[in-house]
Amino acid sequence: MSGPFHVVLRDAIRQRGLPLQRLRAHLAERGIQVGIASLSDWQHGRAWPQQANSLRAIGSGLGSGGFIVYDDTACMVRVAHMFAKFLWLESCNQCSSCKVGTNQSMIYLQKLIEGSGGETDIEFVIEGAMMAPHGNRCYLPVEHSLSCPSIIGNFSKEFIEHYGRGCEGCRYLMLPKIHDLDEAKHKFTYSPGRHTP
Ligand code: SF4
Ligand SMILES: [Zn+2]
Repeated sequence: MSGPFHVVLRDAIRQRGLPLQRLRAHLAERGIQVGIASLSDWQHGRAWPQQANSLRAIGSGLGSGGFIVYDDTACMVRVAHMFAKFLWLESCNQCSSCKVGTNQSMIYLQKLIEGSGGETDIEFVIEGAMMAPHGNRCYLPVEHSLSCPSIIGNFSKEFIEHYGRGCEGCRYLMLPKIHDLDEAKHKFTYSPGRHTP
């Protein structure tokens, strides 16, 4: 089936011959609470699933994709390092190039932060990123191979300024990994992620 969400949903409900009460009961059995009024609005295109619970009802969810916004005072060397470190720590080590490549990028980015890094180290950072997705079983190292060179390419001036100097007054940055969402309070809690690889 294809087309706008509400048309696909309406057709699916019609084909299954499910009254909305039954559909609501099916979802409730799976721990997903959605009201009849919401289901009715969705199939008539008056509203879209937006809350985490509603997104679960259509097989989607928060965290499927996303973006992070930093203002122009953020140090992009630190951002690149933070992403590389996060992906290295999260890599499950089933595919050696994934673990080794993300680790290589992270180590040489660390040199740039500390002030002992230069142009050659950038080459090692990118080499690590290119190496990471060889024989990969999942998307994690691909993400690294795309994001890391892209950050370096788009903020090359900032990287060059760090050569032999390191971070000077660059503030601490946090990678906002979502741990949970309190739907009642509309509040996210964040997780620091893994501390060891
Ligand atoms: S590519 Fe995926 S499966 Fe393989 S080590 Fe990396 S995270 Fe694990
Ligand atoms: Zn810096």
